[in-house]
Amino acid sequence: MTVSPRKILNERGLAAHKGLGQNFLADPGTARRLLDRAELPSGMFIVEIGPGLGALTAPLLERGFSVAAVEIDRGLSQYLEEELRPQAPDRLTIYSGDILEMDFRELAGGRASFGVVGNLPYQISSPLLFNLLEARENVSIAVLMFQKELADRLVAGPGDRTYGILSVFLNYYARIERLLDIGPEVFFPRPKVGSTVLRLTFKSSLDPAIKDEEIFKQTVRAGFAQRRKTLKNALSARFAPEMVEAALSAAGIKPDKRAETLTSGDFVRLANAFSTLSFGPGQA
Ligand code: SAM
Repeated sequence: MTVSPRKILNERGLAAHKGLGQNFLADPGTARRLLDRAELPSGMFIVEIGPGLGALTAPLLERGFSVAAVEIDRGLSQYLEEELRPQAPDRLTIYSGDILEMDFRELAGGRASFGVVGNLPYQISSPLLFNLLEARENVSIAVLMFQKELADRLVAGPGDRTYGILSVFLNYYARIERLLDIGPEVFFPRPKVGSTVLRLTFKSSLDPAIKDEEIFKQTVRAGFAQRRKTLKNALSARFAPEMVEAALSAAGIKPDKRAETLTSGDFVRLANAFSTLSFGPGQA
């Protein structure tokens, strides 16, 4: 069975806004398959990003989850408030606003552990991932739909053409699994590209441990800022050249390597060497 987002939007005098990444899932079978594959622990509290017309919200509620859903489009949040919330008034809260300006922990009512689900608007995918990384101590699982191209970048490993800053960060902090590839035909309006659902499971212990998160971030960013350059040259734009040589040597990484060949673990060892050199072995 398909639902008709076009019909619902027409009936309420609404339109799909491209600028808000509004491609609504029109196939309940795909939504069900997505949630089947997601294997969210039963009873887990869910923060949903961009519920739209409720294509994922409704089946989440059917499966017994409690949901806090954040929708930026007032017409849509009002629709959900009127049509969906009455079906589960004590398990659905709808917030009208921009998820990038909200605090995940507050949305989850201060819970120590919760899940995040969303068919993400393309425009906010990258900043949202950085916000999720900040909240990772409480977000145990995130099941997110991305444009396929971005998902490919996120799951990329060293040596892949699309390997970059986000892949390094995400691979360090989370286990990433590709759950489902979805064609454009199940959305209204139809996007030009395919979509991919990923599950991120944030790790409870990190190995190797990072001595200084800020230096780790700076090391990864500096390495990729000039990805065609050798690490020695790229890192020298941020750190003193003699420190770069010492850190590379301490981490056992050849100076003529490029950032795109390093694993997350290599970056951590390198950043830890910078931390030790900056603050002295006793303090770092
Ligand atoms: N979840 C619905 C579905 O699968 O059919 C809608 C997905 S649609 C790709 C993305 C949704 O995110 C839209 O409803 C859009 O209005 C909403 N959105 C866009 N930017 C947002 C933001 N910054 N904060 C919250 N919601 C946003």
